[in-house]
Amino acid sequence: MEKKTIPNRWTGIILIWTGIILIALGLLGIWLIYQENWHQKDLESDSQTEKQIIDAESSSDPLCPDEHHPHFIDLGLPSGTRWACCNIGATKPEESGSHFAWGETEEKRSFDMDNYAYYSENRRTIDSEIAGTQYDVAFVQWGGQWRMPTLDQIKELVEECKWTWTNRNGKNGILLTGPNEECLFLPAAGYCWGEKKGNEVEGSGGYYWSSTMVLDEDLNSFYIFFSADDLDWNYFDRFLGLSVRPVCP
Ligand SMILES: [Zn+2]
Repeated sequence: MEKKTIPNRWTGIILIWTGIILIALGLLGIWLIYQENWHQKDLESDSQTEKQIIDAESSSDPLCPDEHHPHFIDLGLPSGTRWACCNIGATKPEESGSHFAWGETEEKRSFDMDNYAYYSENRRTIDSEIAGTQYDVAFVQWGGQWRMPTLDQIKELVEECKWTWTNRNGKNGILLTGPNEECLFLPAAGYCWGEKKGNEVEGSGGYYWSSTMVLDEDLNSFYIFFSADDLDWNYFDRFLGLSVRPVCP
C-alpha cells in the first residue's frame, strides 16, 4: 500500500505543476497578442501624426517669393493671364480682405439694393465690361496693370486648373494648380448681404467678382465661386459684397 501512495502523491504534484505551467504559457500568449496589437496602434497613431505634420508643412509652403504682396502669379494659362497672390484689402494670400458691390471701389459696412451705387432701371449707368475703367476696384485701388478678371479669365481659371479644398495657416480655401504646376490660393472669404457682420458663409465658401455684367439680366454680374466640393462660375446680384482677386492681363 505504501508503495502505491508515494507515486500517487508525485503524480498529483506533477499534475499541479503541469497545470501551473500551462496557465503561465496561456497568460504569456495573451500578453504577447496584446503587446502586438498595442504596438500596431502605436504605429498607426505615429503615421497619423506624421501625416498631420506633412499637411501643416505643405499648407505653409511659401506661395510668394517674399512678403511684399501683391505678386503676379503665372499659372501657365493659355491666355498668359497672371493672377494676384492676394485679395484686395488683404496683406497676405490667406487673408479675406475687403468685399465690394460690383462696380463700387470703396468698402462698405452694409450691402443692399438701396445703398448700391449703380442700381437703375437703366443699367447703362455703368458699363457692361468694367475692367480698366473707373468702376474697376483693382484698377482704382492697385493701379498699374492690375484689373478685375473678365468672365473669360475666370472661365479659364476654372477650366485649366486643378484644385483642392485646403486649409492655409488656419484659413479654409482652395489651392488652384495651373498647367505649369504653380499654385494660387483663394480664401473662402464668404460674401456680404446686409450688415457685414452677417457674413455667415465665411470659411465655407469663396465668391469673387468678374468685371463682366450679365447683359440679359438687369442686376447681375458674373462671378467665380467655390466650396469644399465645387468650383464654378455663375452670376450674382451686383449689390452684394464679394471679394476681388485682381489679374494682370
Ligand atoms: Zn504675394
